[in-house]
Amino acid sequence: MKVQNVCVLGATGSIGESTLDVISRHPDRFRVHALSAYSRIDKLVQQALASGARVVVVPDDAAAGHFRALWPAGTPTPEIRVGAQALADTAADTEVSTVMAAIVGTAGLPAALAAARAGKRVLLANKEALVAAGGLFMQAVRESGAELLPIDSEHNAIFQCLPEDAGRERAPREPAKGVRRLLLTASGGPFRTMALDALHDVTPEQACAHPNWSMGRKISVDSATMLNKGLEVIEAHWLFSMEADRIQVVIHPQSLVHSMVEYEDGSILAQLGQPDMRTPIAYGLGFPERIDSGVGLFDLARMKTLDFEPPEPGRFPCLSLAYEALRAGQSSCISLNAANEVAVDRFLAGGIRYTEIPRVIGECLERLDGVRCMPRTLEDVLEQDRHARAVAAELCTLRA
Ligand code: NAD
Ligand code: MG
Repeated sequence: MKVQNVCVLGATGSIGESTLDVISRHPDRFRVHALSAYSRIDKLVQQALASGARVVVVPDDAAAGHFRALWPAGTPTPEIRVGAQALADTAADTEVSTVMAAIVGTAGLPAALAAARAGKRVLLANKEALVAAGGLFMQAVRESGAELLPIDSEHNAIFQCLPEDAGRERAPREPAKGVRRLLLTASGGPFRTMALDALHDVTPEQACAHPNWSMGRKISVDSATMLNKGLEVIEAHWLFSMEADRIQVVIHPQSLVHSMVEYEDGSILAQLGQPDMRTPIAYGLGFPERIDSGVGLFDLARMKTLDFEPPEPGRFPCLSLAYEALRAGQSSCISLNAANEVAVDRFLAGGIRYTEIPRVIGECLERLDGVRCMPRTLEDVLEQDRHARAVAAELCTLRA
């Protein structure tokens, strides 16, 4: 068995941690080459010690100094690299075979794209990379022959439910034959049944308390607004070459069915499992083999019921905004994603109310509606992203 040399981008986050947990169960299969972190340098030190990482990537010299100061004397120090360019270079390093792209937000795009361009096995958790630059990203996968495996649980489920030949096609140009629709499940988040007028007063802590999944703060808020599901519709569009009308979202509060594929003959294939990201992560790491993820037995008898219901548009306006952006094109998807990142940051910092998040995104999309030009390069994408962020920041200030 060939040992995979893994680079974990965003190692200190929720997905990064779960990835290192799975890797630690298979020392014969994986070696940790590099780890990156933006903050929580103490945690990075512990992870580098435990995994034997050869390289660590941190954002600036202060973080590098902090890392050195915390590193135990007498133990060989990993190579410390600094900055965003070093992050992209490390993801493309010839020594790396597999890259886990688990940075949150558009900040993760340049390094994820570098891994795709370098033809790596790319385990993609960073959905914002596909939302902002789906066309460029999939083109890079096609041109380099990279092996793209979706880690987002819904897309991983769909990947598992597609016919083998379609599943093996890493960047399809058309939908898999015989598939009618993709059915994306959503938990509905913590506010699925809350009175609509109470949403005005919800706190960041309430929004981050997801009923089934334990995740980073940004994606937790996205799950509450269901903008997360909107980003996932766009992600599914790119991964499976499926138009918006053939991607349906259904609320499934138990989070046990992770998504489904509906075929022309009426068959529906679903993937089930506990809500634990180590399952899709192990699928991607071990592909095409199945390896232990540390997830225990699933007790069907305790499951009792599986409920499904349509999302209420009045409760989840962000979902419709995402469909609109997908239909409008790449520039609108960049605006949607950038405005959301800014609005969620402000909400988490106590700067705007929860109910302002969809308003900021909607207004930002309207204001930038005329500026639709197809981004052709990474620089174009980042430029449009910066512009949308500036507009969204101004809108947040007006609504504070
Ligand atoms: P998190 O907030 O727990 O971790 C984010 C990681 O990115 C951290 O290591 C952080 O240091 C790093 N980071 C943050 N800002 C950065 C920057 N500007 N530059 C470089 N690194 C930076 O997030 P998470 O929940 O692990 O999510 C990571 C990604 O995976 C997101 O795109 C999310 O949508 C996706 N995802 C997460 C889950 C989940 O269960 N957590 C499920 C599906 C998809
Ligand atoms: Mg998901």
